[in-house]
Amino acid sequence: MVNKSIALLGATGSIGTSALAVVAEQNISVVLASAHKNYSSLLQAAYQHHIPCLIFTGIEDKALQTKLKSENPDIRIYFGEAELLTAIASENYDIALNAIAGSGGLRYSFAVLKNNKLLALANKESLIMGGHILTKMLSDKPILPVDSELSALFQAMGKHPAEEIRFLHLTASGGIFRDLPLEDFNKITPQQALINPNWTMGAKVTLDSATMFNKALEVMETHWLFKQPYSKIKAVIHPQSIVHSLVEFIDGSFLAQMSKPDMKLPILYALSWPQRVHSQLVETDLISLPPLTFQEIDPKRYPLFYLGLEVANAGGIYPTVINSAVEAVSFLFLQNKIPYLKMFDLVKKALDEQEPVSDPDLETILQINAQTCQKVLQYVI
Ligand code: NDP
Ligand code: MG
Repeated sequence: MVNKSIALLGATGSIGTSALAVVAEQNISVVLASAHKNYSSLLQAAYQHHIPCLIFTGIEDKALQTKLKSENPDIRIYFGEAELLTAIASENYDIALNAIAGSGGLRYSFAVLKNNKLLALANKESLIMGGHILTKMLSDKPILPVDSELSALFQAMGKHPAEEIRFLHLTASGGIFRDLPLEDFNKITPQQALINPNWTMGAKVTLDSATMFNKALEVMETHWLFKQPYSKIKAVIHPQSIVHSLVEFIDGSFLAQMSKPDMKLPILYALSWPQRVHSQLVETDLISLPPLTFQEIDPKRYPLFYLGLEVANAGGIYPTVINSAVEAVSFLFLQNKIPYLKMFDLVKKALDEQEPVSDPDLETILQINAQTCQKVLQYVI
């Protein structure tokens, strides 16, 4: 059993729901949980898992707020971003799991670390935009990765020092268009792009897996989390998603972490760390696994991945700009406002128009994030 209490931020999403399955198996107490607007799912979770405090960051309708409070008198219910920040600062919990989707998650990661709490991090945007700030806030406790590839590296690396690492290899499924002929890319629909061959995830991260922009984000996450230069971080397509990532040591040995693809396992490891605990949530039968293969990432098929690598090396404000621009073009594509291939062009345009800013502070990051998103939406709407 994991004898800890948690704050679950983004409890109604794909990661949030998997986290609730872990919570149920391990008897973990959830002290507070948040969602943006999905009150029916969050209330259901609150009754099922005995969660005493809920915060909705996106419900502004005062009549609905009053109704939700009066209909659920035994649960403390709050509304707005400021209330979530207050709860992060004032409630009593051991670990906060940040499973909020998108750039909106950064301020909450910042708040968790400011309050000197352990942060289990699924929200990859926090490190992409604010890695240089968040990592400086750490004292003796690490950020506990939930993203499966990062969790794999964290597990395989153990206590080995950075000097013993030759390369960190991130694996990628290659997404749903791994084998689609390139001439058919101009016909891709949002419905097709919202399927992942191996993982069930939220819409944005599924689309990012199809373009493999997701892997560029994970390269940046790896850089900040493990303090490794980009020259030591590689990515490879592994269509079966069984090997979740590998550490190559200076003596030529590789250590990999493997299991069936299921986010409950990295969530459990983040919550149980530094221990391992009994669990039957994810069982992997070696004999029934497909053959495990690895292949290179084709620049023609995945240009956003390679653009993401360029941006990672440029650093400064550029990771924020590309992340924000991709959020905006993802929205436009999923709304059928632009074709799949146009996403790359608009992201490139936003990057080309951005002046460099080195070592941006939190306010600058949040401001340029919002500006970039607006700008990209205005290219089209
Ligand atoms: P989902 O879209 O499924 O869920 C997002 C959650 O965040 C929901 O609870 C949603 O509430 C809440 N939310 C959305 N927008 C805001 C906002 N502006 N402010 C506060 N809360 C908000 O996302 P996923 O669970 O797929 O992903 C969550 C994070 O984890 C992302 O950063 C993703 O990249 C990362 N990740 C996800 C993986 C996966 O397997 N899904 C794997 C690795 C990383 P509501 O339901 O009310 O809208
Ligand atoms: Mg991942």
